[in-house]
Formats: sequence, C-alpha cells, structure tokens
Amino acid sequence: MATINENYLKLPGSYLFAEIARKVNYFKEQNPSANIIRLGIGDVTLPLPPAVIASLHDAVDEMANADTFHGYGPEQGYTFLIQKIIDTDYKPRNIQLDVDEVFVSDGSKSDTGNFQEIFGVDNTIAITDPVYPVYLDTNVMAGRTGELVNGKFGKVLYLTCNQDNNFVPELPKEKADIIYICMPNNPTGTTLTRTQLKTWVEYAKKNGSILLYDAAYEAYIQQDDIPHSIYEIEGAKDVAIEFRSFSKNAGFTGTRCAFTVVPKSVKAKTASGELYPLNSLWNRRQTTKFNGVPYIIQKGAEAVYSANGQKQIKDLVSYYMTNAKVIREGLTSIGLSVYGGVNAPYIWLKVPQGLDSWAFFDKLLEEAHIVGTPGSGFGPAGEGYFRLTAFGSQESTVEAIERIKTRLKL
Ligand code: PLP
Repeated sequence: MATINENYLKLPGSYLFAEIARKVNYFKEQNPSANIIRLGIGDVTLPLPPAVIASLHDAVDEMANADTFHGYGPEQGYTFLIQKIIDTDYKPRNIQLDVDEVFVSDGSKSDTGNFQEIFGVDNTIAITDPVYPVYLDTNVMAGRTGELVNGKFGKVLYLTCNQDNNFVPELPKEKADIIYICMPNNPTGTTLTRTQLKTWVEYAKKNGSILLYDAAYEAYIQQDDIPHSIYEIEGAKDVAIEFRSFSKNAGFTGTRCAFTVVPKSVKAKTASGELYPLNSLWNRRQTTKFNGVPYIIQKGAEAVYSANGQKQIKDLVSYYMTNAKVIREGLTSIGLSVYGGVNAPYIWLKVPQGLDSWAFFDKLLEEAHIVGTPGSGFGPAGEGYFRLTAFGSQESTVEAIERIKTRLKL
C-alpha cells in the first residue's frame, strides 16, 4: 500500500477563507436583501491595462501563423522580458543583474512556495508573524517545522510583529538559516525602512542565513526611505533572493506572471562545507519541474514596461491607494488604531477592546454588511487585528467606510 507524506497531516485545515465563506453564506440566507461589500479579498478588481491587452492580442495572432508561432520557450523566461525587467526595475536603482539571474515564473505563490525545496530539511526557518501563509505551509509539507503545539510549529522561529514593536520584527536570538521577509507586508500593510532592512542583511551575512524577500507589493511603495528592492542594501546580493509579481502592480492575478531574482553570488553550504550557488540549484529545479510561462503571457508582461504600460500601472496603483487612504482616514476618524495602507494596499486595524478577530468579523458583517479578514488567520500574532483591502471599487470602498462610520456600534 502506498503511504502518504505525513507532513501534510500536520497542516491545519485551510480554515480561514472556508470559514469566511460559510459565515457570509449563512448571513446572506438570513438577510437576503443585504448589500454585502467585500473588503476581505487580496485579489485585484480593475482590468488589465490597455497596453497589456494590445500586446496579448498581437501575441495571440503570432501564434496563429507558422512563421511566428512559439512552442516550448526557455524555462527561465524569454530574454525580451528579462532584459526589460533588469533595465526598468533594477538598473535605475544601481542594481546590476545578469539575464541568467532572473527567472520568470507563473507566480510568486509558486516561487515562494517552491524555493524551500533547494534547501536541506534541517534548516531552521524564521517567518514574521502574522504573514502570508504560503511560506510556513510549504515548509510544513517539506518536514522542516516540527509539530504544531498551541498554534505554533516547534522548530519555526516566529518573529512577532505587532503594535508594540511597530510591526518591525526583532532579529532572532536563535540562529535562523532561512528568513522570509515580506515587504510591503501582507497582511499588516507595513514596511521596513532602508536602515531596518540593513540590519537583516547584516544578520544574514553574520550568520550565513539566506533572506527570502517577497516584494510582491513593491509597486505600492510611496515613501522615499522604503527600498523597492532588497538589493538596494549593500551586501544583499550575497544573501538575498527577491520575489516579484505582475499580479498586484498590473492586474495579472488571473493571467499569471512573476519573476524571482537569484544572484549567482548567493551561496549555501553543502554537507561537506563547500559553498554552492543557489542560482544553479534553482535553475536545475525550474528546468526539471517547470516548462516556462506562455509566450503570450510574457508578451503581455513585456508591455508593462512600455511607456504606456508604465503610466497605466501607475494609474492602477494610484486608484487602489486612493481607496487605502479612504479606509485609513475613515477608520482613524472613528478612533480605531490603524496601520499599513501608506505603502501597501492592506489596512491592518486593532479590533476594539473586548473582541477577538472573529468577533469583530461577525460585528462588521452584521452591523455594516462588510466582509474583511480576521487577523488570526495569518498567524498567532494576528489575533486581535483585522485586515481590510484597498482592492475594491472606489464607490464600494467609500460606501463601506460610510457604513462603518454610521452603523458600527463601537
Ligand atoms: N506574495 C504575497 C505576499 C502575496 O500576498 C501574494 C498574493 O496575494 C503572492 C505572493 C502571490 O502572488 P502571485 O499572484 O504572483 O502568485
């Protein structure tokens, strides 16, 4: 009889979104005329920018002609896209990358989830808490985390981020081999300044750690002292991998395109103590298990870097950031403690005293007919907090805040 990977049994059920759906469905049954506004989702709502659409159409036509048809492409991505990424996202920030240091993929979810495969199972991982659940769950599947006891895996270092430390994780006292940092952060919407990020690069250099830096929300950064790439920090090219995505800056959540930067200078140790470049391992992993992003989609992503594309994605981000401002200011005006939403499309609020995250979820749904996401779903330190997203339409966001102001009994 075949046996299963027992590590999968250690995963708590994906309770969060299933439970939200259950509660919302029940509420709808009881209140069929209620107009529910959803500010819980992390998905975008605006369509793809016109420059991307035009390029996708052209690429589809190319596929209809034997002379311009594309079959299997390079697993690492087409150079036409990689070169644009390097020239637009990195060169202007004085970051030099070679074409073979950028790997185009079908999403940062896959890449942040898969990257752990190239490390030994005996590494100690550190995650900020609360955080995007993929980092932890994929390490649980790999057998790197130990057992779940009282909501925490025994071998994982949880770096608490809450209002007491202003959502700035403290450096671990124990040695962490692999550290996941997501900035701007999902779910808290907070970021690290250049100086704060520098301490992480220094820690990694001192301890031989690798930083897995998820910058999926980089396009939302508004303030000057927040780095857009970890490679803006001196020495980061020796210790950090960076994940970027077209999902949130250009609306590719359903179109699927992202990229991961693996500098050739980032190395980890073999059992015999030799230093080995992660770039070759990741290349080996991708060429074995992945057959590349469709040509059509990469042509769509390339158009993000055209002059029109760059303007159109700025407008897209600015639309959502106007929502973020409406949410932030509205909640602050009624006395709630609000974080994030300045350099990120997420607003993280402290739930009123006496309530936990789920009780506040129920209250918001019942009194204002608004759906958000309980903070406890993102890790133990998320309890007592709540996430709202700026990805709705401007009309529904304004309406939601008006309802919170007038209907929520605080
Ligand atoms: N990383 C973070 C922090 C996210 O919040 C998300 C999506 O919500 C992703 C990665 C997934 O990105 P992609 O759509 O490129 O898979």
